[in-house]
Amino acid sequence: MYGYRLFGTDGVRGIVNEWLTPENALRLGLAIGSYLSRGDRVLVGCDGRAGNTFLVNAVISGLISSGIKVFYAGLTPTPALQLYVKNQGFDAGIMVTASHNPPEYSGLKLILSDGVEAPRDVEEAVEEAYEELSFRRITWAGLDYDVKGVSDVNDFYVDAIIKHVTPEIIMRKELSVVVDGANNVGSLTTPKLLRKLGVKVFTVNCDISHIPYRNPEPTPENLGYLPMFVRYLNAHFGVAHDGDADRAIFIDRLGRVLPGDRSAIILCEYLLTKEGLNIPKKVVTAISSSTIIDEMLSKYGVELIWTKVGSINIARTMMREGSLLGFEENGGFIYGVHQYVRDGAMATALMLECIASGGLELHELYDRIPKTYVIKTKVALDPRTKDEVAETIKEKLLDMFSGDKVIDVDGIKVINPNYWFLVRPSGTEPILRIYIEARSEELANKLLNSITFLIGGVVRR
Ligand code: MG
Repeated sequence: MYGYRLFGTDGVRGIVNEWLTPENALRLGLAIGSYLSRGDRVLVGCDGRAGNTFLVNAVISGLISSGIKVFYAGLTPTPALQLYVKNQGFDAGIMVTASHNPPEYSGLKLILSDGVEAPRDVEEAVEEAYEELSFRRITWAGLDYDVKGVSDVNDFYVDAIIKHVTPEIIMRKELSVVVDGANNVGSLTTPKLLRKLGVKVFTVNCDISHIPYRNPEPTPENLGYLPMFVRYLNAHFGVAHDGDADRAIFIDRLGRVLPGDRSAIILCEYLLTKEGLNIPKKVVTAISSSTIIDEMLSKYGVELIWTKVGSINIARTMMREGSLLGFEENGGFIYGVHQYVRDGAMATALMLECIASGGLELHELYDRIPKTYVIKTKVALDPRTKDEVAETIKEKLLDMFSGDKVIDVDGIKVINPNYWFLVRPSGTEPILRIYIEARSEELANKLLNSITFLIGGVVRR
């Protein structure tokens, strides 16, 4: 039995040159290569984070040593790599990225031949090989030294997205959009996609930098001046990506940052009613999304399926249930017609078509969703005791809110007609995430006070 988890909610993450050293990246490459079959074709790509140059080389070294044929995509968004793996017949993909984590982190996502992140049983097999150092080593004469460069991954991706919308409808509207690429790989594809669709593009944070100008997570507090730029430039909307551009957070022309589940409601409503699309009336989302979704989508006869947090859970549930629409509240939108992965540029193209083909602009569509007050915050935990502390907090919350409906597939979600909240340990960092949504600011703050008081009591013990 192996001793610990390498993979969090979505891949392996670590601080560069602390845990995530070239040595550990090499060991990861060997473990993944040994899990795969000798001679498998694996596409490796990365985002522009600090350390990725040596991490990519270390991972590739491990893969080659274990008999894998390696192809290198260079700088590319995660969904672009995933699409290329699926459509070009690769056996697997590896994306070197830490997604939305702070800039000192990097990491690795393992993609299977269907383009979707590996499920837990595959991660466990890789973890076991990593822990036990049980690697397949190829004798010198059998080694494949060539790493073949693949140069068209980003163009292939942009062209594939365009096939899922009607460019003429978008072009007619003469839309303008501000794109914030988080100083990372979304800058390579989203502005290009939008220009091909006849959109006037303004870019912010679109040069790739090891030390980004903003935190890679596109939360309202991290987006700085972006909402003001959208208003000042009178753009139709703004879109902000995370580090590897699988998320898209939208900003309306009034400068309001839309929570990801609100923009997803707008996209789902559009796609469920789009003429000729006949999309199945099943929507999959994680427990961290708002219960407002039920209110908004039930009129279309939609069955809403709740999963654990993590895009892998959403994607694999969609595939199992025959759903083509799924999302996370953090801006990860999955359009299964295109691929079963979160895709920031695909979501942006769909939003353009939604606005261009209907009579309403994004701020007007947003105004149709009932307004509630949302608080998202986090509490740092001691990494050594985080699981135990999280469990005690869960038990105490169950006691405190015993009169409300509870879903506990992942952390604890408490649902009341006037509010809901979720308290769950992060899968990637030693923190407890708290989401609260209530009909009024006063009620939300009251809940926050009660919850943080309770957590404080447990953490300080
Ligand atoms: Mg991401």
